Amino acid sequence: MTKDIATPARTKEILERHGFSFKKSLGQNFLIDPNVLENIVAHAQLSKNVGVIEIGPGIGALTEHLARAAKKVVAFEIDGRLLPVLEDTMSPYDNVTVVHQDILETDLLQAMEEHFEGFDEVVVVANLPYYVTTPIIMKFLLEKIPITGMIIMMQKEVADRITANPGTKAYGSLSIAIQYYMDAEVAMIVPKTVFVPQPNVESAVLRLTRKATPPAEVIDEDFLFRISRGSFVQRRKTILNNLQSSLPDGKLKKELIVDALERAHIEPGRRGETLSVEEFATLSNELYKDFFVELSKG
Ligand code: SAM
Repeated sequence: MTKDIATPARTKEILERHGFSFKKSLGQNFLIDPNVLENIVAHAQLSKNVGVIEIGPGIGALTEHLARAAKKVVAFEIDGRLLPVLEDTMSPYDNVTVVHQDILETDLLQAMEEHFEGFDEVVVVANLPYYVTTPIIMKFLLEKIPITGMIIMMQKEVADRITANPGTKAYGSLSIAIQYYMDAEVAMIVPKTVFVPQPNVESAVLRLTRKATPPAEVIDEDFLFRISRGSFVQRRKTILNNLQSSLPDGKLKKELIVDALERAHIEPGRRGETLSVEEFATLSNELYKDFFVELSKG
């Protein structure tokens, strides 16, 4: 087996050999601890039947561990300066494909067809650039990319918000949007010292596993997410007040919202943070008939 990339000495040697300098704007904090990488890969439960999408391979620290454990790895890297580095570091692995692309601009369904046709299982594993964690996860979920799970290193504060339960300070529209599709848990907390350069914040590895069925049948998922975002605009306000401010004006607005809350069996005096994902789903279905037409104009 080749020497691990993710040791301080080997990473330094690779960076120097290629004259690479970090770009903060791309969230470049590279892992330099093989134990953390082994742990991440263990949580991903890979096998030689599984395909992996990696986002942001950097110099390949995580990529090589994935290549050893999975059938195939397709790694999307935005920074063209890393391509020659990866060509060098990934040369021992014939099951790694590096794609020079911004993941947010990628046609993911087409990429799935192109790279993973016939695969029973594809997972996303990534140490994500922290500034775009949420849009990247939501892109996979909203576009209904047929992945079975995601193992993602991110800012701990974001992982806490994603996994939060109703009634807690961290619970909000992000918890609802992600928990609507996936079971979410923090798999491990990671100290700053395992990265170079060290980030300013603590990190966590989040495990997302697709729910067998969604928690409720929703007429329109976008509408559900708009309602949940609108319900947290002012956390201390009641759900009724927040919805009144966030839904478009119209005749009988308050009455329509009160009626919808009643049909959903939700007290108008409750705060958004006390509603479960199921309650938000029911409420959005009840509000949909009265407000969707209005909202789609705006
Ligand atoms: N996987 C490597 C590791 O763990 O050492 C690097 C992780 S580093 C936190 C994030 C990586 O994502 C960087 O290589 C960066 O260039 C890349 N990146 C940033 N934005 C991206 C995007 N929109 N699409 C693809 N890659 C991106």
